Amino acid sequence: MKNKLYSIFTNTCPQCHQGKVFKYKNPFSLKHFSDMNETCSNCQLKYEKEVGFFYGAMYVSYALTSGFFIVSFIIDLMYVQAAMWKLITFLIVSLVILSPLTYRLARLIWLNFFFKYKDEKK
Ligand SMILES: [Zn+2]
Repeated sequence: MKNKLYSIFTNTCPQCHQGKVFKYKNPFSLKHFSDMNETCSNCQLKYEKEVGFFYGAMYVSYALTSGFFIVSFIIDLMYVQAAMWKLITFLIVSLVILSPLTYRLARLIWLNFFFKYKDEKK
């Protein structure tokens, strides 16, 4: 399946779905989780198309985090009914643990807003 979700969840170039966006596979390697390739190794797409391009990914990150909060809150309300302090502790801990993932997802989603998939075989 070649679409935007494929690029987002497999850390691949939004344009060719071949080259990797982030250099290292493991998002939880704290030293390297944010290391990105400057260009695609396959189609030479320059990921940071202008200076500060990735500032916009902060809004995506904000949306992801809010979405996560809302979903957790609804699940808690419907099924868990944990005390508020437990819910808040859970949210803060997950936020910290998931932050490298959020960071990557936000940038990959942001890239996919601006670049479209081009099938080379066509
Ligand atoms: Zn590419």
